[in-house]
Amino acid sequence: MSDIAENWQKLRARIARAEQAAERVPGSVRLLAVSKTQPEAALRAAHACGQRAFGENYVQEGIAKILALADLAQGDTGLEWHFIGPLQSNKTREVAEHFHWVHSLEREKIARRLASQRPTGLAPLQVCIQVNIDDEASKSGCLPADLPALVRVVLSLPALHLRGLMCIPRPGNSAAFADLAKTRQDLLASIRELSPVSFDTLSMGMSDDMESAVAAGSTMVRIGSALFGARSPL
Ligand SMILES: *Cc1c(COP(=O)(O)O)cnc(C)c1O
Repeated sequence: MSDIAENWQKLRARIARAEQAAERVPGSVRLLAVSKTQPEAALRAAHACGQRAFGENYVQEGIAKILALADLAQGDTGLEWHFIGPLQSNKTREVAEHFHWVHSLEREKIARRLASQRPTGLAPLQVCIQVNIDDEASKSGCLPADLPALVRVVLSLPALHLRGLMCIPRPGNSAAFADLAKTRQDLLASIRELSPVSFDTLSMGMSDDMESAVAAGSTMVRIGSALFGARSPL
């Protein structure tokens, strides 16, 4: 487990170098620790290093960890939970009730369910729309052509706060990162209700390609294996 502390330090340094190489503002790229399949102890080790934002792909597994780590949830040092996996409509309630962010919103029906199921006492759910930027065959993510309509739906739902865009490009296709950044710019230019201050997130870059994502403008890299080590298969 002590590897996690070492990996975390290396990763912070790697992000800082990537920011510098890309002439980005220091500290402008957040680290989302992707903790799917990792045991509670691994998350506690990352938290002890200062890690606050964790990403989970599976609803049941994520909620089990949210409950198990509830003792860390207090005050400034509280955890921030990001749902980043495929989201089926029969799981939206649990996500709306337990998570702070969703990166993988891709259709209107899910947006409306999340909004109506978000408990009124909680802050709006922070949302990124996942964009199918380079692989129509994969079927995951909103097609670029359908994006303006989905953006307008999310903007009409006060229980959701639209924060930006997310993509998972085909392996090796780092050109997709610049495409996602341009997609964000195009939306800002065409939809008046969007502001660069609040529509500020580009969730892109993983362990193997985060440097090119940062160079293209990523504001949040989603890192699993470089922090926690290789995942054992489920
Ligand atoms: C697993 C996963 C990651 C992290 O991948 P690594 O290559 O382990 O860094 C990032 N984003 C999503 C959506 C994932 O499912």
